[in-house]
Amino acid sequence: MILVDGYEVTELAKKIKEVAITACDDYSQVKVDAAVNRILERAGGLESCIRPGMRVALKPNLVMGKDPAAAVTTHPAIVESVAKAVMDIGAVPFIVDSPGGPSANATGLRMVYKKTGMTSVAERLGIELCHDTTEVEIALTDQSPIRKVALLKVIHEADAIINLPKVKTHAQTGYTGAVKNLYGAIPGMRKAEYHFRVQERKPFGQLLVELNLALRPVLTIMDGVIGMEGDGPTAGEPKPFGYLLASRCPFTLDNYVLSLIRIDDIEMDRVAQARGLIGPFRLVDDGKEIRPVPFRPAAHRRVNFVENYLPAFLARPISRSLRPLPAFLPQKCVRCRICLQSCPADALTMEGIPRLDKEKCIGCLCCQEMCPERAVEVRRSGIGRLLFGSFH
Ligand code: SF4
Ligand code: SF4
Repeated sequence: MILVDGYEVTELAKKIKEVAITACDDYSQVKVDAAVNRILERAGGLESCIRPGMRVALKPNLVMGKDPAAAVTTHPAIVESVAKAVMDIGAVPFIVDSPGGPSANATGLRMVYKKTGMTSVAERLGIELCHDTTEVEIALTDQSPIRKVALLKVIHEADAIINLPKVKTHAQTGYTGAVKNLYGAIPGMRKAEYHFRVQERKPFGQLLVELNLALRPVLTIMDGVIGMEGDGPTAGEPKPFGYLLASRCPFTLDNYVLSLIRIDDIEMDRVAQARGLIGPFRLVDDGKEIRPVPFRPAAHRRVNFVENYLPAFLARPISRSLRPLPAFLPQKCVRCRICLQSCPADALTMEGIPRLDKEKCIGCLCCQEMCPERAVEVRRSGIGRLLFGSFH
């Protein structure tokens, strides 16, 4: 039996009944402040989960140092509004994330915080930007494919976590929103290590769910003003969505957002449903029609039926031979070597541009995710192209 907040998870799913949504079509601070206030009120009020004096970790999605206009990272206007709301009730917010790849040290973090607009937010409000990359190891339950996981100590020890994800499609997991955002609580290169240790989709979904149960964010507020479609989380295209959403339950929130953006077959969502973490919920909205906004899925999602419907002894080799592989574009590559440093399987060498060892590659696409120049294209394997055609 898993207990969260003293409730068995199935009881918790029944207890959590609200997903709040409000329209917000641009990032002007005035509009975002008003939308955040509406959403907080509808989610039961910040006072219901934060007390004065608490140290509150604000965890945006800062996967890499990109300008907010690229729609790769949670917009700073949302982080600013939430930080102000936390300060208004006398608690102490701080901004923290651990980007992937080699940016996860103090110098890299400074660059990421600056480019994503977090430094300006912190300076304007006089709040802390966390550069502490100290790890702590925590135990997960026997439903996790790995029983111990390293987390950023500052996030683990915060009095409360407010999860601030962005709505994006994702080349590896299909979707990143509330649940996947907490994978960012794992220190930088450790993320690649766990990708290497947990290569298949279902166990990786279990790991993501376990992380959320271990970290227990008190609230998730999702940046859906402009999301990302296609080959996210970093190489897709901005997609206007026009909503801000909130819930105390990250699993239910993702499940609802997936229905709005018309993306399905997401393993972390499937795992959460199977474990009774998603129950019926009450939608608290503006009283106007909520329009679905279909997002274009990441290209390689079309072959996922292999793992879902074939027995494991068949699915593994077939899935391996069909797995999408990275291709490195010489005209875009600036030879920064970030992909080499991000690869958990040591499958890349530098020969003018990165060269792939297909035997070693596990298809995790961390190289594509971390490439700052969009110089990594996802391509089907030879057999995949024969069966399904090419992506591009
Ligand atoms: S592919 Fe991207 S990450 Fe790799 S060396 Fe080229 S520019 Fe850098
Ligand atoms: S080269 Fe293969 S194993 Fe390495 S990061 Fe890219 S997809 Fe993952």
